[in-house]
Amino acid sequence: MKIAIVNIGTIVSGDWRAPIAPGDRILMEDGLLTKVGQFDKAELEGCDLVVDAKGVTACPGLIDSHVHIAFGDYAPRFATTGFLKDYLYGGTTTAISASEVHVPGRPSDVEGVKALAVAAKKCWDNVRPAGMRVYGGNVLLEPGLTDEDFQELAGHGIWLAKAGFGSVKTPFDYVPLIQAAKRAGMITNVHTGGASLSLANSIYGEHIVAMQPDVAFHINGGPIAIPDQDFELIVRDSSAALQVCQAGNLRTALKTLDLVTSYNCFDRFIIGTDTPTGIGTMPEGMIKTVVEMCALSDYSAEHMIAAATGNVGKIYRLNCGFLREGCDADLLLIDAAFGASKSTALESMKNGDVVADVACFTAGIARYIGRSRCTPPPMRIPEVVVNRIPSVFEPPGLLH
Ligand SMILES: [Zn+2]
Repeated sequence: MKIAIVNIGTIVSGDWRAPIAPGDRILMEDGLLTKVGQFDKAELEGCDLVVDAKGVTACPGLIDSHVHIAFGDYAPRFATTGFLKDYLYGGTTTAISASEVHVPGRPSDVEGVKALAVAAKKCWDNVRPAGMRVYGGNVLLEPGLTDEDFQELAGHGIWLAKAGFGSVKTPFDYVPLIQAAKRAGMITNVHTGGASLSLANSIYGEHIVAMQPDVAFHINGGPIAIPDQDFELIVRDSSAALQVCQAGNLRTALKTLDLVTSYNCFDRFIIGTDTPTGIGTMPEGMIKTVVEMCALSDYSAEHMIAAATGNVGKIYRLNCGFLREGCDADLLLIDAAFGASKSTALESMKNGDVVADVACFTAGIARYIGRSRCTPPPMRIPEVVVNRIPSVFEPPGLLH
């Protein structure tokens, strides 16, 4: 399938070093972005779908690196069905499991955690709720897991590991487990801070520095933050990505951002939601944090969008998060909400307002064009000017 979007007002690249891409059009084919910014008009001839963006803003689909998924579009701890579909309508096109901790009766023995991760990964490989890409199978680190176990898991395609909920005596016991997971090529993630819904270990600065994980999950609290003095320790003495979550502590999220500025390490600053949790199920959780982080700082909206897109894609080694040729065709069209005091999506975000999603594409397929079911209505609605696709985009009932 070949799709063109023309008449885009602004293209946000997902790369904070050059956050605006020049041009006004995007072409995608067979799941990938093939042209970003400019292409010859003749390309439009062979398109299955041509969308006139009416001057709205394009940006990469948001990547939520902290979602409490289990199996399918269902959050068992909160009996919530269909939340991932709603998250897609809130702009999240990729969800990364924060480990399947909410599976009822989840096992904690070595064979149990391995089986859970493998089952979750293999199920998620086969299903995309409303078109969202979900990376499941984040193995929970438990004492007793060996190099052989991690190699076996890697052989099944497991590439995510998480520390924080295991039956260790002290968080320092995670150090050899993190090292073994890294040896198997996994991206390691660590619960940071005090207890969450589960009775996790309290993991503070000295523990993160000893573990050196790839990602310090919810450094601003999930939902309980580490002591203030530990933030600089983690930024200075570890290389971990610093994940700021909507379900955490807003004051310490801003504190993290200040440190990232001081230490000139914005590549490490990533945004997630840490939902569904007791804080809620939040379809607009990603964009709300982007808005809060830019409206309450000196950063521009397009710079901060990179923390929810390109930065996450790089840390998790994904082929998405950027609007550039060769990347997965996962993108959004967004606009200022109807009645907003600012006239563009980026100005609205800097003003502190969430925006209207007006179109979403994942894997090069249009998932919705027009109003999102989960955001306010927009100022402008893109128009489909050519449609040679002999079907609706979604089964009846899914759209609105
Ligand atoms: Zn969490």
